[in-house]
Amino acid sequence: MPSANTYYQDPRPVRRKRRRRRRRSVPVLLSLIVLIAGGIALLRRSAAPEAGGIPAPDYVQEDFLTVNPYSRPGDELKTIRGVVIHYVGNPGTSAQANRNYFESLKDGADGTYASSHFVVGLEGEVIQCVPLTEIAYASNSRNEDTVSIEVCHPDEDGAFAPESYESVVKLTAWLCETFRLDPESDVIRHYDVTGKICPKYYVENEDAWEQLKDDLASRIAEDKAAS
Ligand SMILES: [Zn+2]
Repeated sequence: MPSANTYYQDPRPVRRKRRRRRRRSVPVLLSLIVLIAGGIALLRRSAAPEAGGIPAPDYVQEDFLTVNPYSRPGDELKTIRGVVIHYVGNPGTSAQANRNYFESLKDGADGTYASSHFVVGLEGEVIQCVPLTEIAYASNSRNEDTVSIEVCHPDEDGAFAPESYESVVKLTAWLCETFRLDPESDVIRHYDVTGKICPKYYVENEDAWEQLKDDLASRIAEDKAAS
């Protein structure tokens, strides 16, 4: 029969063993959690690069500017309450040329602060210069809560070519649907922010602006019916 001593001593190694196992399992569990979390983060990143967790449509070419104080400050765009439409003001230039112009500002040589989230080209191509998680320098006091779209145009009057017009409507519809914006009140011109004659044709021809908004509303209704 074991003495009182051996009776109380025997379970000890067992307990110690258990404790040791527990201690060892904590780091193992922690590294597992870290591994799983890392895997999820990687998956998310590959699915939606930088567009605020939302993948951009196929027709958007991402060509982000280098982060710099003059055209891509890297400041967070916390909420999206609207879309601001602009015209580039330089007839016949391409979307790529305008994107490259924004990139060229990065050294601050001429002290200009300018950029845009998207540039729509003469052929209807769409280049994204700044992720939707960051502000762009296009719309003055509304930089902090809007997405900007610069549109190329063939002539001085600033009217959009049919291909560009189609892309503006398509892209703006997508933004309204994605960020739950009202196409009537949340889609505005640069003119509506500062009084600047931008986008020129759609400031000087109010009917054309109203038509664009009607086309946008129809597009959103069509998308809704198709989904
Ligand atoms: Zn403008």
